[in-house]
Amino acid sequence: MTVNLLDYDREGLIDFLVEMGEKPFRAKQILKWIHQSNQSDFNQMSDLAKNLRTKLSESSVIAMPQVTRDHTAADGTRKWLLSVGSGNGIESVFIPEANRGTLCVSSQVGCALACAFCATGKQGFNRNLSVAEIVGQLWLANKMLVEDFDRQPLAKMQADIADPQIMYSVRRVTNIVMMGMGEPLANFENVVTALNVMLDDHAYGLSRRRVTVSTSGLIPAMDRLRKRCPVALAVSLHAPNDPLRDYLVPINQKYPIKDLLAACQRYLQDAPRDFITFEYVMLDGINDSASHARELIKLVRDVPCKFNLIPFNAFPNSEFRRSSSESIRVFRDMLMQAGLMTTVRKTRGDDIAAACGQLAGRVYDKTRRTAKENIEAI
Ligand code: SAH
Ligand code: SF4
Repeated sequence: MTVNLLDYDREGLIDFLVEMGEKPFRAKQILKWIHQSNQSDFNQMSDLAKNLRTKLSESSVIAMPQVTRDHTAADGTRKWLLSVGSGNGIESVFIPEANRGTLCVSSQVGCALACAFCATGKQGFNRNLSVAEIVGQLWLANKMLVEDFDRQPLAKMQADIADPQIMYSVRRVTNIVMMGMGEPLANFENVVTALNVMLDDHAYGLSRRRVTVSTSGLIPAMDRLRKRCPVALAVSLHAPNDPLRDYLVPINQKYPIKDLLAACQRYLQDAPRDFITFEYVMLDGINDSASHARELIKLVRDVPCKFNLIPFNAFPNSEFRRSSSESIRVFRDMLMQAGLMTTVRKTRGDDIAAACGQLAGRVYDKTRRTAKENIEAI
């Protein structure tokens, strides 16, 4: 059977090599070729013996999803639509900033959790992404960024971007947020293996602070993540009380706020950062009043946290509206005055609908389950 080497972290690759009678240290060399040199052709891996290269090409491939669209918005945000077979599509988005380049990565085709305001949730669930499909998003982004960078005449590049920090971030992915399509912790094993590759010094070598998993609050999986691979954690809170959160984030019916906050506190014992990021989508007239802000401040009193307010991104047939900039400002100021560090997410790449958390590839729902049935199934 042919295996895809993009499916392996270092441990998996060592097992695979040892089974074919090779030395474990070859794994480091191969990881470097694949992930640091973006090499997918075994014949180019010049420090591997010829017979190993032959064995590898007979037994394995290095295969990533196929890019079907590649579009850059006016503000530099770049979105790729990737085909993952059976007519399904996923998206990943690159957001260049002054001192970093963030890639927003998808973890599932669709999502079963059916949050009321989410385009992905509305489409239903098809399947989990494989490790290769998750890591492949990063592999492809780096490859295309480097190629584009190399193609541009240096003089032009230097004129456009004087700051070497920006040059670096435009050239490569420096940060990952698992905030694309899907609930990462509902695809636990594949996501953890993909995180291992992102963190491995012989692959992408990103620090645990630069890799963020965003979850709607799957408590048992949060506890497992903190043991297996504690990276930075963002939690989609979106409401200051259970009745409202039950409606906006239906998984709350299974894992209510009090238990969720306790899990956040446990997570911080092993986390690479000393705070949890709470995401809070700003929905006009739903969760954005001064009394919601007051309730929220009381609620999170005991959790070291930062807030990221996300102006709602509308999509066809969505029943919500984005809060006005004035209510977002008032809400933010109230949190700040209470001592909570708060940022408002810039709505980037609006002209290509690339805003993180609003990624709408093509999903053919396989489950035909209701939201309630999905929650029971998780
Ligand atoms: N499933 C995970 C990660 C993917 S969504 C989670 O829910 O956390 C990433 C973020 O985008 C989440 O906070 C999600 O609630 C938010 N989001 C989803 N749809 C959105 C929309 N239409 N506008 C703004 N934010 C949205
Ligand atoms: Fe799934 Fe996250 Fe969308 Fe909720 S917000 S439906 S958990 S992708």
